[in-house]
Amino acid sequence: MSTATEKVCTTCREPWPADTGFFRQLLKNPDGLADQCNACTRERHRPRRLPPRPRASDTLASVWMTAA
Ligand SMILES: [Zn+2]
Repeated sequence: MSTATEKVCTTCREPWPADTGFFRQLLKNPDGLADQCNACTRERHRPRRLPPRPRASDTLASVWMTAA
């Protein structure tokens, strides 16, 4: 029998050992652990980078592709 329980992070979809070394404690969850792994939790709290703006050339290219 496997003693190690794994929990799949909802963000990176990687299985991690289901303990507080990999997931934050979250008592409202049935297993007492957060749905996101510690790495993704840290990532989430970082200041968000602005999404890249579409370049004019890309927009024109898609317009031409659609027209043709
Ligand atoms: Zn993750």
